[in-house]
Amino acid sequence: MENTKLAIVIPCFNEAETLPDSLRKLWNIFNKMIDNKEISAESFVFLVDDGSEDETWDVIKTAYQNSNSKIKAVKFSRNFGNQAAIIAGLENAYKFGADAAITIDADLQQDVNKISEFIKAYEEGYDIVCGIRKNRTDGFFKKFCANSFYKVINFLGVNIKPNHSEFRLVSRRTLEILSNYKETNLFIRGLFYDLGLKTKDIDFEVTEREFGKSKFNFLSLLALAAKGIVSFSARPLRIVFFLGFIISFISVLLAIACIVRLIFHLNYLPGLELFETWETFTAGIQILCIGVIGEYIGQILTEVKARPRYISDEELK
Ligand code: UDP
Ligand code: MG
Repeated sequence: MENTKLAIVIPCFNEAETLPDSLRKLWNIFNKMIDNKEISAESFVFLVDDGSEDETWDVIKTAYQNSNSKIKAVKFSRNFGNQAAIIAGLENAYKFGADAAITIDADLQQDVNKISEFIKAYEEGYDIVCGIRKNRTDGFFKKFCANSFYKVINFLGVNIKPNHSEFRLVSRRTLEILSNYKETNLFIRGLFYDLGLKTKDIDFEVTEREFGKSKFNFLSLLALAAKGIVSFSARPLRIVFFLGFIISFISVLLAIACIVRLIFHLNYLPGLELFETWETFTAGIQILCIGVIGEYIGQILTEVKARPRYISDEELK
């Protein structure tokens, strides 16, 4: 069997500080794997500059010039987000004939030494190898939000492993299937477990980011979470329906209580404050439900417009 032609896909947004060090570490592993014939000498690294505002593209260009055609890259016209950057990298890995592609973050917080294990699993016949974080280096709040996200999305019927990350190998077959998914709001983290392909999970240790800082804040993570839920589950809409049903039922009980009070001339109404609280509570629930429906309408709108997921400005190949 021919050695696997591997593409390592790296999304980069304002990573000028991190990238030189990360590429150095990556080349060590990459060249060793080529020497040991674990991967083919035609393997390459595909860098996607997601509209960085710092010198990331200059760093990529310099690395490209010194890379002996082991680097290919694309620069987006603006920041399109990490998911779009990963998709662009995977599309290009397919276009340039990779047998398998591994996505990894530019800060190499994931364990590059696991790449060999990923390749072994691929050669055993797995189409998808998912890196699962054994630990998290995030602060308490981000950890809490991430854990809650996985609980909620699993409850909503979406099959995603908790602590699944974007550190993952996908086979050429998977890349081909991916090319048929045309939706604008493609949430790839959910997609890969949904394909029904032979999948293996491999645990890895997360390390601290050495340079620069995380590119995600609370709002961008919340937007990503909402996109993921709306992309893969219609259950929140059903929950809205049941909430409406339950609230209507309780309101009927309250109305009966009022009628009884009127008939029997009971002037004293116990728990008047409760009635007031109930009103604000139901108003809140209504706005919340409109928000949930709004998320779906927003996603339908962007899907109907079918705008490109990203726009490329420059390419290095
Ligand atoms: N990233 C990207 N576009 C964005 C935000 C992030 O391409 O809009 C990239 C970033 O450069 C990195 C990866 O996505 O390679 C993960 O980002 P980061 O390390 O900041 O996330 P964290 O590890 O804090 O979750
Ligand atoms: Mg990181």
